[in-house]
Amino acid sequence: MNGIIVGAGIGGLSTAIAMRKRHIDVKIYEAANRLSPVGAGILVPPNAMIILGRYGLAENVRDAGVCIDSLTVFDSKGKKISKTPAYFSKNGTEYKTVAIHRSVLQSIFLDSLPSDTVITGKKCSHVNTGLDGTEVFFEDDTSVSEKFLVGADGLHSKVRESIFSNGKLRYSGQVSWRGMSNVKLTSKWITGLSEVWGAGIRFGFVPVDDSQVYWYATKLEEAGGVDENAAIKETLLDVYSEFPEPISEVISQTDSSSIIRDDINDLSPIKSWFSKSTVLIGDAAHASTPNLGQGGAQAIEDSWVLAEKIANSNSVQDAFEQFQALRFSKVQKVVNISWQIGKATNLTNKAACKIRDTLFRCVPSFMAKQQSRMMYDIPY
Ligand SMILES: Cc1cc2nc3c(=O)[nH]c(=O)nc-3n(C[C@H](O)[C@H](O)[C@H](O)COP(=O)(O)OP(=O)(O)OC[C@H]3O[C@@H](n4cnc5c(N)ncnc54)[C@H](O)[C@@H]3O)c2cc1C
Repeated sequence: MNGIIVGAGIGGLSTAIAMRKRHIDVKIYEAANRLSPVGAGILVPPNAMIILGRYGLAENVRDAGVCIDSLTVFDSKGKKISKTPAYFSKNGTEYKTVAIHRSVLQSIFLDSLPSDTVITGKKCSHVNTGLDGTEVFFEDDTSVSEKFLVGADGLHSKVRESIFSNGKLRYSGQVSWRGMSNVKLTSKWITGLSEVWGAGIRFGFVPVDDSQVYWYATKLEEAGGVDENAAIKETLLDVYSEFPEPISEVISQTDSSSIIRDDINDLSPIKSWFSKSTVLIGDAAHASTPNLGQGGAQAIEDSWVLAEKIANSNSVQDAFEQFQALRFSKVQKVVNISWQIGKATNLTNKAACKIRDTLFRCVPSFMAKQQSRMMYDIPY
């Protein structure tokens, strides 16, 4: 059976890898003219590492990134709020979260696929789906048809727009910046992800190799703002000036051109991810806010379950139904918890922030463990 994937992001590439493992032929059609090394860093949590192990890629990812033990959250004075393990044990094997440059992760995925798998410069405009197959139309007035289509075209999915009338974006109230810094971290900071919470602002950082540190920052702000590029570092130094070291040093040692700004949205939950011979995966189906660092990992989980179901079902409709049945509940939990964490970090009143920090300090470890198990375990 042959299929089409629209979008060569984390979800599209990992789905192509999963399909190939199951001897299903797919081509990916990607809007960008070339797959350039974009983006800052990314966390690849244990659930994604378990699946990447099944694709034979876990070792490459570990070797190219930094394995981290924990996520530690501090208040704006540098006092610890919480420390959560960033690893998970399954069947006697321990899987750590890996912090890695996004472009390195993308190269690992691309290198494991035949070079003609991804066709670039193909921006999907709309699709026409039927029970026997789907036709995908591109902005260059060409089209392709296959037995099934996987819409992996991200938050602003054209495939979703074409097939489902629902699927509204929810603005979280936060703008985010991400960047890569050449700062030299002391030993205190190199084994984990560190995050500082203030009033309506947050800053996180983690090493991704011997010389680079990935950082992200959020601020409660209206959507649609733009930065004055020349002044971006001064702006950020000012916004996060009350935070403890090494944050100002991390910002200072960043090349301004690597700083990416995004409005943080998720997708208001949609009831169905498929129609006839078209299915959505990853952010196109269930984008979450990035507060749990799980969006890419959920797309990778999708890839495994979808390929397994397509390979073992009598029809693509059966496969899509089983895929959604297996994935829906976990994805909704991730979307909801991530949304709630975002709300907690949006508080601007200092007294309310103190109460928030105290409440988070009191979360019993069994609850944190339960949440980790929900996210990191792979029950399929
Ligand atoms: C600030 C931030 C930090 C994050 N941190 C993490 C993290 O640490 N860990 C984690 O797991 N997740 C993280 N995420 C989430 C993660 O980036 C996404 O969930 C993940 O990239 C989704 O993958 P995807 O393939 O579904 O979509 P995308 O990565 O968005 O890929 C979509 C692809 O489709 C292409 N495309 C779009 N429209 C079309 C079209 N019309 N025709 C053809 N192609 C098209 C795009 O060019 C792109 O290549 C973070 C997100 C943000 C915003």
